[in-house]
Amino acid sequence: MESCILEAEEMIPELNPIELERCRRQMMLPDFTLEHQKRLKASTALIAGIGGLGGTAAVYLAVAGIGKMIFAHYGNLTISNMNRQILMKHDWIGKSRVAQGKKTIEEINPDVEVEIYDERIAEVNIDKLLNDAQIALSARPNFQERRILNNACIRLGIPMTEAAMNGMEGYLFNIIPGITPCLNCIYPEDNPEWEERAFPVLGAVSGMLGCLMAIEAIKILTGYREPMLNRLLYFDTGRMEFKEFKTYKRDDCIICKRLPFSKHQTQILSGLYDYSC
Ligand SMILES: [Zn+2]
Repeated sequence: MESCILEAEEMIPELNPIELERCRRQMMLPDFTLEHQKRLKASTALIAGIGGLGGTAAVYLAVAGIGKMIFAHYGNLTISNMNRQILMKHDWIGKSRVAQGKKTIEEINPDVEVEIYDERIAEVNIDKLLNDAQIALSARPNFQERRILNNACIRLGIPMTEAAMNGMEGYLFNIIPGITPCLNCIYPEDNPEWEERAFPVLGAVSGMLGCLMAIEAIKILTGYREPMLNRLLYFDTGRMEFKEFKTYKRDDCIICKRLPFSKHQTQILSGLYDYSC
């Protein structure tokens, strides 16, 4: 345990005076310390999809002072994206989403490093995308890419925040390898309701869910407060109802059963939670 903590502490950088002033108000949160802020600065997040969900999460991770984000999202911006994708600008229509996403984040907080890939999440690129990441935010609108991300995160021992929405509804849960159920435990079969298509979106709903993703990611990365574990949050903003469901690992899950802790996960979570190391 001690060696794990030392390894994690060595990764923590100093903050420059502008960063300290930018995060001054969040460091007024009860028990939110400079140590938490430095952990965030030392962190890299893969944002798998920078649309209404992932793009909003990226904005709040940037203003909170995350060190680095990796954006993966294939394709060019369309005008029909603009009711929800707050990283985007009207004059960028027809051009690469990830390029505009990087530009916007750098304008918001120049201390955040952004690496971009105009690519879908695929078996051939997932190890590259997760190479530096301590967390993945799953915000792609199809099960195929979510499963590839889930399976790789489990294999590499990287936590993942999973969220999806449709119309006025959405769900959110965290996947901590070896601790919580994985995506395959909860959805062993693809849900046709969530397949990639022109599904209805109210931008404020995807934005709210993106904010929740950012909160969970910050908690997981810093050890501040308690991330949602073994629970799934479901909401229907049409009725403004929020419900919570307990989630369970499947004994026969082919993805996460008999999962060993990896060195990567040990580095990330060491010293943050009792359940690590
Ligand atoms: Zn599983």
